[in-house]
Amino acid sequence: MRFPTPLLLRAQSPLQSQSKTLLSLLLRSRRLSSAPSPMAGPSSSEATLREALAEKQAAVDTQAEAVRTLKARPDVSQAEIDSAVESLKGLKLEVAAVAKRLQAEVNANGDGSTGGLSKDAFRLAVVNTLERRLFFIPSFKIYRGVAGFYDYGPPGCAVKSNVLAFWRQHFVLEENMLEVDCPCVTPEVVLKASGHVDKFTDLMVKDEKTGTCYRADHLLKDYCKEKLEKDLTLAPAKASELKHILAVLDDLSSEELGAKLKEYGITAPDTKNPLSDPYPFNLMFQTSIGPTGLSTGYMRPETAQGIFVNFKDLYYYNGNRLPFAAAQIGQAFRNEISPRQGLLRVREFTLAEIEHFVDPDDKSHPKFADVADLEFLMFPREDQMAGESARKIVLGEAVSKRTINNETLGYFIGRVFLFLTHLGIDKDRLRFRQHLPNEMAHYAADCWDAEIECSFGWIECVGIADRSAYDLRAHTDKSGIPLVAHEKFSEPREVEKLVITPSKKDLGLAFKGSQKMVVEALEAMTEKEALEMKATLESKGEAEFLVCTLGKTVNITKNMVTINMEKKKEHQRVFTPSVIEPSFGIGRIIYCLYEHSFYTRPSKSEDEQLNVFRFPPLVAPIKCTVFPLIKTQKLDDVARIIAKSLTAAGISNLIDVTGTSIGKRYARTDEIGVPFAVTVDSTTTVTIRERDSKEQIRVEIGEVASVVKEVTDGHSTWADVMWRFPTHAASADERLDD
Ligand code: AMP
Repeated sequence: MRFPTPLLLRAQSPLQSQSKTLLSLLLRSRRLSSAPSPMAGPSSSEATLREALAEKQAAVDTQAEAVRTLKARPDVSQAEIDSAVESLKGLKLEVAAVAKRLQAEVNANGDGSTGGLSKDAFRLAVVNTLERRLFFIPSFKIYRGVAGFYDYGPPGCAVKSNVLAFWRQHFVLEENMLEVDCPCVTPEVVLKASGHVDKFTDLMVKDEKTGTCYRADHLLKDYCKEKLEKDLTLAPAKASELKHILAVLDDLSSEELGAKLKEYGITAPDTKNPLSDPYPFNLMFQTSIGPTGLSTGYMRPETAQGIFVNFKDLYYYNGNRLPFAAAQIGQAFRNEISPRQGLLRVREFTLAEIEHFVDPDDKSHPKFADVADLEFLMFPREDQMAGESARKIVLGEAVSKRTINNETLGYFIGRVFLFLTHLGIDKDRLRFRQHLPNEMAHYAADCWDAEIECSFGWIECVGIADRSAYDLRAHTDKSGIPLVAHEKFSEPREVEKLVITPSKKDLGLAFKGSQKMVVEALEAMTEKEALEMKATLESKGEAEFLVCTLGKTVNITKNMVTINMEKKKEHQRVFTPSVIEPSFGIGRIIYCLYEHSFYTRPSKSEDEQLNVFRFPPLVAPIKCTVFPLIKTQKLDDVARIIAKSLTAAGISNLIDVTGTSIGKRYARTDEIGVPFAVTVDSTTTVTIRERDSKEQIRVEIGEVASVVKEVTDGHSTWADVMWRFPTHAASADERLDD
């Protein structure tokens, strides 16, 4: 759960009133991170080019002025004027050349591999293919749709269910997690305790004339990006300023955002009307539970709370032992102000969340050695602040040097890396970025985001946070049910304990109806506060005492309370577990996977580009297609037998007996990422074709299912089976269209 940091504060924390700066930082809302390095300025070559362009433009202006002056003078010959005009033309050509290089540099910054296309063109190609092949469909399309809602069509559903099946395998099964499935509709009290009711907000501005709403930070971001990308005359200092704003966008308070919008003259994008000041908008969808309308509920904005409120039962189910993890996959709902970026920011999405409960005094992990040698891109906060880039770090070193706070957090970072790369996320476009101190909740021990680079920039897809004991404490306080763990001692231990014994009789006489609140406040004193009161009572006989729930200070006298340090035998330690929470945005991961898997290749005749998704078999919506080469009853029958054997082996398959040319059928299924195609060209043996290499092997009909299963299950690679079976040269028909 990455949350508007604010709710990370307890409702009544004294910090809230004390530190305005801290509060403004904590009141920051959760935003989509797609900025470059948080502290990055323009790249040095970009800055140099901007300077060069400014100089050349100045030279053009001077020369243009010179030409004008020459033309105005009667004593100047035509030859002199022509020569000055020629110089001007030369300088203009130089400006154009530098501008072109600068534009290329700006476009290239932060770009991933897009097969030579611009980011926008690449995205368009991917999204068009996804929509045309029904990976996704804008929801309620026949009624013109509603922003921020998407349906998954047949291949999209299959990809999603494969991703979730692998998630269950990789996390729930391999880590023995306890899976739960809780309701989406959540009563107000739960989300009040978690802080969502009060603080789950984004900053919004309104078009003052039409009332259209926009996210304030999005408008500022668009302005900065557009200036940087399109205004090549921007001075390097201004470019740095705008890049800095992009980097700290998440940290700007409402006032700071409002001031920047005003300073840059930003207006409503559609109408150019003036905008209101930014103000917070709660992102939860509110509903009411039952017919009376008296019981408020919300569609859950995350699945985690369902796990926290079940902690006591889950702990018991686990034999009252720590550590253990609970997991949940389910829909989350956020009423995003102005959803954009397609599938990346939507109003209903699937979250897969893990809450790993651990003893705060022992965050080691028994299986850390399994991931310690992994080396991948990490972006520690020090590197971000120094303006450096993400770099490869060995996970074991990151934990031993305390770059990553503890082993359990490190273990999950490693497991998330393995999960994402197994799915087909390119490891060079995946980085783990540590939260900057001001991005983190005050109680959080450490947080890292798995960010994946796509055409929209670096996108936070998984948040991995050590949230300490915050959530369980918040629900303990609100529900009155202690969500705690116990450590039984083998031998009782003698400990010195503070014992506060309020005298209810004396307090009742003094405070009457308020007695209960004074008693509770006395009992809730920290050891330091209690010892200070004891000293004051002993020296002065009375002490002033602030009772927050009464909202006033009362006078406590010596007879009202006894405070002593007493030796006690303890048989167990009672504590609130810490929680380490990896939270996966499944839709975002899938979208990034689409971009990382997509490529085009020319058709054989080279007259068109064919689209391909190079999904690993694990993810592919259909694992295998079966095509009779030509339309005859005999070959159709064989194709049906093979399809049946594939289904029996648990391999999803598609049989296409349409008789369209085989090349066209390959192209159609390459476009939805089917990794293997069986072509039935005889009644004894058939060919199996691999999607990316287009290589084919010849296999006996009875062996097809087992060979395809071997490669789709990952027990053999395609190269392995190429060794074992004769290769097959493409037929004339295949060559024609493939
Ligand atoms: P958060 O609780 O805000 O940290 O979100 C957890 C994960 O949910 C993030 O890492 C994202 O992958 C995903 N996520 C958050 N908001 C959205 C959204 N509006 N649309 C799609 N995915 C989201």
